[in-house]
Amino acid sequence: MGGETLSLYLKQIEQLAALQKIDDEIMQLNAFLQNAPVELGLMQERSLELQDNIKELEQKIVQVAAQRDQLESDIEDANLKIKKSKNKLMMVSNSKEHQAMIREIDNLEKMNRNREEEKVSVMEEMTRQEEILNEIKKELADLQQEVSQKKKQINQRLQSSKERLKILQDLRGKAEEVIPKPILSRYHFIRSRLSQPVVVAVEQGICKGCNISIPPQTFNVLQKGEQILSCPNCHRIIYWAGHFAEEELESVSS
Ligand SMILES: [Zn+2]
Repeated sequence: MGGETLSLYLKQIEQLAALQKIDDEIMQLNAFLQNAPVELGLMQERSLELQDNIKELEQKIVQVAAQRDQLESDIEDANLKIKKSKNKLMMVSNSKEHQAMIREIDNLEKMNRNREEEKVSVMEEMTRQEEILNEIKKELADLQQEVSQKKKQINQRLQSSKERLKILQDLRGKAEEVIPKPILSRYHFIRSRLSQPVVVAVEQGICKGCNISIPPQTFNVLQKGEQILSCPNCHRIIYWAGHFAEEELESVSS
């Protein structure tokens, strides 16, 4: 009779441990199912952002190119004027007029030197913008590749996760059938409040959930294997490690 009680007790503990493993896996799968689309959404948001950046940069580059073209045509115009003035200069004999023309030529040449300087900085700016543009284009290409890989991966995992969830729900139902109702609700209660795991072994008198020794009296009762106990300190459901070989509990749910 005592043996029957123990074997029933052990079965309940086994099923509690199995339930815990099942619930952990369900939790992980649900987390994945929730997070994956969010993660994908963030990646797509980033890719839209990059596309906007590219548009902006391309517009900026067009503007800078227009600036450069304007400078080039201004320089050309001024050069023409300078050439004309220099030709005229040879025909002017009046010294006042001569000096005025030299001043004008100097002025035009000075303005062109400024324009050349400005053109250098405009070209530098353009190179800089083009470099940024190329970097962003590369980032976008990488991201888009990542997104399509992730999508594929997620779709595959979604399918297998849904199938696995069905199996787990089934296993869960079976595990729950064996566990007495009050213990089951105790399990759900502490699971929702404490960090996992909540079904823990007691080894050498120490609760593996909180690493504190349980009172010798409780330990004695625990070793008898007649009723399911909780750790007086952390309230996790405890079992005596001596009742099980390590791999026994590891394999219950798989
Ligand atoms: Zn404890």
